[in-house]
Amino acid sequence: AKAHIEAIEKARELNAYITETPEQALAMAKASDERIAKGEAGPLEGIPLGIKDLFCTKDVQTTAASKILKGFIPQYESTVTSQLWRDGAVLLGKLNLDEFAMGSSNETSAFGPVVSPWRRNNDTAKIVPGGSSGGSAAAVAARLCLGATATDTGGSIRQPAAFTGTVGIKPTYGRCSRWGVVAFASSLDQAGPITRTVQDAAIMLRSMSGPDAKDTTSVSMAVPDFEAAINRGVKGLKIGIPKEYRMEGMSSEIDGLWSKGAQWLRDAGAEIVEISLPHTREALAVYYIVAPAEASSNLARYDGVRYGQRSLGKDINEMYENTRAEGFGAEVKRRIMIGTYVLSAGYYDAYYVRAQKVRSLIKQDFDNVYASGVDAILTPATPTAAFGIGEMVSADPVEMYLNDVFTVTVNMAGLPGITVPAGHNAQGLPLGLQLIGKPFDEETLFAAGQVLE
Ligand code: GLN
Repeated sequence: AKAHIEAIEKARELNAYITETPEQALAMAKASDERIAKGEAGPLEGIPLGIKDLFCTKDVQTTAASKILKGFIPQYESTVTSQLWRDGAVLLGKLNLDEFAMGSSNETSAFGPVVSPWRRNNDTAKIVPGGSSGGSAAAVAARLCLGATATDTGGSIRQPAAFTGTVGIKPTYGRCSRWGVVAFASSLDQAGPITRTVQDAAIMLRSMSGPDAKDTTSVSMAVPDFEAAINRGVKGLKIGIPKEYRMEGMSSEIDGLWSKGAQWLRDAGAEIVEISLPHTREALAVYYIVAPAEASSNLARYDGVRYGQRSLGKDINEMYENTRAEGFGAEVKRRIMIGTYVLSAGYYDAYYVRAQKVRSLIKQDFDNVYASGVDAILTPATPTAAFGIGEMVSADPVEMYLNDVFTVTVNMAGLPGITVPAGHNAQGLPLGLQLIGKPFDEETLFAAGQVLE
């Protein structure tokens, strides 16, 4: 814990942490030492972790990287983090993210962008860590924590992990409790870890998982010993390569990495088969209707009365308006406007209902593939390597949304997905591969991820 606290102090220019909790970390570490001395060590005893600032932590400020929650100190602990502390982990602090987890580069945070520890060869330009869990990914990559919690609504664990050469897994929807995690899009949100290795991810996810009476969408299933699965290998597994993911204009670097990954799995005894997920083309359009719709509803609670910031106004309506106008950033406002539009009376059937129907077709594509005997699916994690800070901030937000093309389908189908570091581009930046699994079959992802790592 001490070594990590010192490392955090020396790396503040990365802006990975919004809140540092060194005193709490040392007190927790001391309690860990005592449990170890008594022979009562938990599975994560003494392991120093960073927590994405979207998880409520009792008595520790929780901001969702938004001005509107500045100064909000929860009275309660999220289920996922309380399970980590139950197992002995130590809190180093709260990690930066895109505001309300909306973004793909960590540039929408009200606390400023996170800087990746990576640089292009012979270049000093600052690189994004990806998003929305950019603080989590940068902190793990820069050794500012041993592992971090993150959340993934459309790729926010897997894309930043790919951009920073770390491992990230979004488990099956329902595997982790969402209780005490600030909601973005409730039917898509899942928690998961970002770590240095596949083995660390397996260990951490086990602690984070399990049914919770406080979240009716958490699933009553026993949590497997994920770590025991990592050395299973892939002999005899059928791994699908979806032809629709071979996008027009995909860089040869990404294409080459994908082929290499398939070859590694084949060399380890897997059978590689071409598969079809025909509704992939619709995925981004559907995601960017469903996610903002749910977000606009979830974010209605930030009204200046119950949480965080309150602006003044001559009456209550003006107070609401001023609070929300001053408290939310531009990307969050854009999502609220899109969401309320697609949910409004005249447009509900044309946009929201239709998007939900196509979402079912996207899920059906996966069901068909798995019913045909495929065990897991291999895809690139992202269409490109990480870009520079400011390079993608354009007048057209759709440019940024395109980054999520390989990750959003997994959330819409509720499936587990892992990204593992698999190489570097010509400029020396990390590249990741993604494995998508069957519902509640994270074990196969750990086994195949270990082969690729
Ligand atoms: N980049 C996607 C978005 O902005 C996904 C974010 C996430 O998974 N939280 O919606």
